Amino acid sequence: MIGWCLWTANNQLMPGNYDMEHDVLKMLAAYRDGQMSREDFIRWFDTQKATLSTQLPRSSFLQLRYASAYVAATALAKVLPACTNCSTICPQHTFSSWQEYKQCEGRVDHAEAVGTLLRMSPPAWAVDIPKGGGADGYYRCAKCGAVWGIVRPERQENGSWRRLA
Ligand SMILES: [Zn+2]
Repeated sequence: MIGWCLWTANNQLMPGNYDMEHDVLKMLAAYRDGQMSREDFIRWFDTQKATLSTQLPRSSFLQLRYASAYVAATALAKVLPACTNCSTICPQHTFSSWQEYKQCEGRVDHAEAVGTLLRMSPPAWAVDIPKGGGADGYYRCAKCGAVWGIVRPERQENGSWRRLA
């Protein structure tokens, strides 16, 4: 899980061999996985500020520390790598048709049936999601812990499959 990316000056993720300190990734993952409250995470964050400011893109650093728990979760989705088990189920996108939704839903159902994805109740931070922006189904990758959400198309909304944390 280390040595997987490189932050460029403008905060874009690039393939490369940047080493983010293993302990930092472990703590970020522990927080994402619910092993630490937001308060405890912020307390830890503040003790590591100097290190974290050099290891995280500025936008992620600020979101993890000062934004709502939901926005912090979206920052985690950018900072923590997802494994190929979950990232290859269905491309992250907004569906362009009902058929596309059904196709993705079928793959997600299959991934759940074989144990690749674990269906979960909405994470605590889901209460911070702007109204109408929540997912209809939340899943955790059994291997890497990444959190994914599927949104069913409804009225003008097309629905989507996205990594949430
Ligand atoms: Zn995964």
